[in-house]
Amino acid sequence: MSEILSLAGKVAVVTGASRGIGRAIALEFGRRGAAVIVNYHRSAEAAEAVVAEIATAGGQAAAFRADVSLAEQASALIAFAVETFGDLHILVNNAGVTRDMLLMMMPEEDWDVVVNTNLKSTFLCSKAAVKYMLRKRSGRIINIASVAGQMGNPGQTNYSASKAGQIGFTKALAREVAGRGITVNAIAPGLVETDILQSMPAGALEAALKLVPLGRLGRPEEVAWAAAFLASDAAAYITGQVLGIDGGMAMM
Ligand code: NAP
Repeated sequence: MSEILSLAGKVAVVTGASRGIGRAIALEFGRRGAAVIVNYHRSAEAAEAVVAEIATAGGQAAAFRADVSLAEQASALIAFAVETFGDLHILVNNAGVTRDMLLMMMPEEDWDVVVNTNLKSTFLCSKAAVKYMLRKRSGRIINIASVAGQMGNPGQTNYSASKAGQIGFTKALAREVAGRGITVNAIAPGLVETDILQSMPAGALEAALKLVPLGRLGRPEEVAWAAAFLASDAAAYITGQVLGIDGGMAMM
């Protein structure tokens, strides 16, 4: 691993790291030498397995349960990172859910759950993390958005709005904190093979795949490599950007 891509000596928080893309990011960060806080909400066993995998490979990690859509728990997560590993350099806002439904039939609760889990959590965790990063005049925030926030997707007004919101948030915060050495970027994955795809209606996945020029699903690792790059010193001059990891699906 070239030194500029190494994360040795860094402390990272990855929200929703028990499964899927967050899990892959936590493992990749661990492999590159970061001490990783593996946040989870419901999947305690899976989160402990991620911690064990990082430790077995010689890295450092700890799991922390927090519903990141709630202010107190989001703050507690960031405080736990600082207490456990003595610092905080990288925050990845990855936790996310879908509750797909056509707008006319979408319950208000499904709007709230999706927007709070995907977007409000990004605000809450970033606010808590930036407090530490400002003092050190350095830091990295990486928001896992989606092509749905760029292209829109029928049946996903809640999800698309939350993901577009993350993109706007990324650009605004990037401008706010650039002078203090903190970069803020978003990744917009396309169709990535994780549990989240299981909630897609029959036939929808096949139809969506037709929109992917590379003609296949992405792998969680392919998002993790981009996140690790954005977290590294190699990305010091990149901020306010949205990096598509989508097989060419969106091409903004
Ligand atoms: P996933 O496999 O369903 O995993 C979701 C993760 O989020 C789990 O670790 C889950 O933790 C966590 N989570 C959910 N609600 C939470 C909460 N309130 N507090 C803390 N953690 C919570 O999903 P994924 O596909 O990896 O998605 C990860 C991110 O990528 C999401 O933001 C998603 O929108 C985005 N994305 C995914 C795709 C795709 O095709 N897979 C495409 C574009 C964008 P527990 O299991 O512990 O509850």
